Amino acid sequence: LSQRESPRINGQRLWDSLMEMAKIGATDKGGCCRLALTDEDRAARDLFLTWCREAGCSVRVDRMGNIFGRRSGANDELAPVLMGSHLDTQPTGGRFDGIYGVLAGLEVIRALDDTGTETERPIEVVNWTNEEGSRFVSPMVGSGVFAGVLDLSYGLSRQAADGATLGEELQRIGYAGDDEERDPDLHAYFELHIEQGPILEEEGYEIGVVTHAQGVRWYELTLDGFESHAGTTPMDRRRDALLGAARVVEMVNRIGLDNAPSACTTVGVVRVFPGSPNVIPGRVVLTVDNRHPEDEVLSKMDRDLRADITEIARDLGLHAELVETADYAAVTFEEDCIATVRDAAERLGYSHRDIISGAGHDACYLVRKAPTSMIFIPCVGGISHNESEDATPEWITAGANVLLHAILAKAAE
Ligand SMILES: [Zn+2]
Repeated sequence: LSQRESPRINGQRLWDSLMEMAKIGATDKGGCCRLALTDEDRAARDLFLTWCREAGCSVRVDRMGNIFGRRSGANDELAPVLMGSHLDTQPTGGRFDGIYGVLAGLEVIRALDDTGTETERPIEVVNWTNEEGSRFVSPMVGSGVFAGVLDLSYGLSRQAADGATLGEELQRIGYAGDDEERDPDLHAYFELHIEQGPILEEEGYEIGVVTHAQGVRWYELTLDGFESHAGTTPMDRRRDALLGAARVVEMVNRIGLDNAPSACTTVGVVRVFPGSPNVIPGRVVLTVDNRHPEDEVLSKMDRDLRADITEIARDLGLHAELVETADYAAVTFEEDCIATVRDAAERLGYSHRDIISGAGHDACYLVRKAPTSMIFIPCVGGISHNESEDATPEWITAGANVLLHAILAKAAE
């Protein structure tokens, strides 16, 4: 394709759609509060549905409330190519996280309509339910059920702090679809998203070709020693749980450094009991968050963590109990989808580099269902999950053009 002939998205129209959507749940500081399945989420869904229908799509809602807009292909018997993300936000969220991937998908369809481009395979754009996991604590639950990783009953029974279940709220806002979980046959899935980190902007790249997403393991560690008087217990007689915790914090940090550059390790919560200035702490509960893009390395980090805790506890006469509280497997995106994204960026003349996603995304579940990869664009200052989250119209346009060309390549197969 020559530069001139090659179809392009309409960047202004996409930007205008993003700003129109951002009015729903708009906050004083320029962000969005559109929690899953609230009245604001319903309004966002209604607007998306209207736009899909105006673009000539047939629309389907499944039992998890995931919304699919479909543009027919020359051969509708073939498995579709899917693209999308999520319209829900954090309580103090931004205008782009998730929304961009959905509305860029819609813009791809609009751009194909503009040029009268027919694809061999059908193309679909999707809005996944409750990606953020803010109101209903299980994140990415809509895509998780779709991909068969989570049960439908599990998804519908997720409960908000106000007591309402996800299933009840879907009914209330009119998005409890009756569409059976469909034939899972998908040809490919692409998710376009802001990076939510500083790398692309700092290094001056327009496009991130996402190759992996980090695996995450969460732990809760309880260290038990013995509470006793801070003035009368000699130093060599103590069983100080907080001293053990201090060594654990240092050790967790070292595991991160030992597995550089890709590992991230954090102790984010430390609770000390009884929490009195003149009592030697008898119990400490702390959390560990370990991340790495390779499961084998995460498992090695797990073994090191356990061995070191055992040693620290033995040294200090403590009892240690480690419980794993979450385990999201590392994700390797599909080779051919990755290459398709890289080729599209290359042909369109955008600067690009390979990148690893530090955050979870719906695409991390979709890998279980279909060949999948992601496209990142920079965001200003790497800031996300914040009302000041921002991206330039140029980046927004570049990413959507890469999505368009990745979709065109896959829909021609
Ligand atoms: Zn997101």
